Amino acid sequence: MIRNRYTGEMLEFSCEVFPPKRDDDMYEIFQTLDQLEGLTPDFISVTYGAGGSNSKKTAKLSAYIQNLCDVEALAHMTAVGMTKEALPERLAELQKKGIRRILALRGDKPKLMTEEEFENREFRYAADLIRGIRDFGGFKIAAACYPEKHPDSADYETDIRYLKEKCELGVDELITQMFFDNTKFYDFMDRLDKAGVKTPVHAGIMPITKVNQLGTSVSLSGSSVPTELSNLIARYAEDPEGMRKAGIEYAVNQIDDLLRHGISGIHIYSMNKADITKEIYAAIL
Ligand code: FAD
Repeated sequence: MIRNRYTGEMLEFSCEVFPPKRDDDMYEIFQTLDQLEGLTPDFISVTYGAGGSNSKKTAKLSAYIQNLCDVEALAHMTAVGMTKEALPERLAELQKKGIRRILALRGDKPKLMTEEEFENREFRYAADLIRGIRDFGGFKIAAACYPEKHPDSADYETDIRYLKEKCELGVDELITQMFFDNTKFYDFMDRLDKAGVKTPVHAGIMPITKVNQLGTSVSLSGSSVPTELSNLIARYAEDPEGMRKAGIEYAVNQIDDLLRHGISGIHIYSMNKADITKEIYAAIL
């Protein structure tokens, strides 16, 4: 927990890591995690390969965080690629490793999955996976939310209606999709408030420290880009060190503004960069 320097209240600080593609790169991510020592985040979340690919690595990395780094691990899991038969086995495996927190997601269609396979998935939405995890028992459940609405949703109202239904199944916390414009987040929080959703929200912040990172992040998330951020990218196109510094500063300013508004949690999309996460952490204390 960290203290909000404006309100004096405590809030959760967390970050996300992803398992490497190649097995031999696991050592590198273990090193990254070791470098986070001293940061004491409330949890570190571990992504899950599209459609369940690499799910073993998610479990392995989560176990390292939980048992060797002494930090709570939050293992991501997707409905896509999951079967009713496999779910209890996966959950029992996580429990055996001491993992007590899961981020339950729908997931997207992996490239190698056919439309038919995707359409016939056994768990349709995150909500169906949440029901399965809740009925199994023993896990704190997190879910995803989208300040600028999920791209599949026709409008904000529909998105919030399904989000509310998801929360009512027993979701303990929400983590937002990355956003670069805080006003979008505040509008979202107002909509949650009006809908009566009281689940704590962790604001997902992605530091953009490389010029080519923004395009990928935006195409994956659909998040809008304020002119201030696109101007930074243009200004530092030929200056990687300048971009790194400016990107961290942008993220820190975003968080500072969120702290002034009394946020309940900050979640850094760390991209496996311990140094960047540590610099942000130090700047917001
Ligand atoms: P859902 O909550 O199921 O919602 C998906 C869409 O369906 C929304 O438009 C929603 O409004 C709609 N909907 C929900 N319920 C119903 C219903 N009953 N009837 C009709 N429509 C409905 N993906 C990965 O593969 N691996 C990861 O590790 C991963 N980590 C993520 C972490 C975070 C914090 C976030 C925000 C996303 C992450 N994703 C990950 C991406 C995520 O899987 C996709 O965004 C996916 O498209 C939606 O997942 P969801 O859990 O939000 O889905």
